[in-house]
Amino acid sequence: MSETIFSKIIRREIPADIVYEDDLALAFRDINAQAPTHIVVIPKKVIPRVSDASWEDQSLLGHLLLTVQKVAQEAGLTNGYRVVINNGNDGGQTVDHLHLHILGGRKLQWPPG
Ligand code: 5GP
Repeated sequence: MSETIFSKIIRREIPADIVYEDDLALAFRDINAQAPTHIVVIPKKVIPRVSDASWEDQSLLGHLLLTVQKVAQEAGLTNGYRVVINNGNDGGQTVDHLHLHILGGRKLQWPPG
């Protein structure tokens, strides 16, 4: 099981601006925000990449999306937002603990770079 900085945030070994927590998930503000609101939602279970998830994780993955919905609503992102999962090197993933980025508070461009 791989250990990342996000495991340390879950265990409160390093500080983070946590905005939501339940039994399965944690959400905190990204330290290097790419938009006025930039929050990452992670499962407490260590799944390095979305490509490592299995059908056993089906309800957890649904839980994460509904957590995104709740966190975005609580953050006041009434005008929309983007949900991003970077996967692997080409996907630009830098932390090998599955996470969903919530980006909002400005008009985002498409396609991403
Ligand atoms: P990735 O590039 O893997 O999709 O996203 C990882 C994200 O985690 C990046 O946006 C990065 O800024 C964020 N991040 C990395 N280390 C920390 C940290 O220690 N605290 C917080 N709050 N965010 C972090």
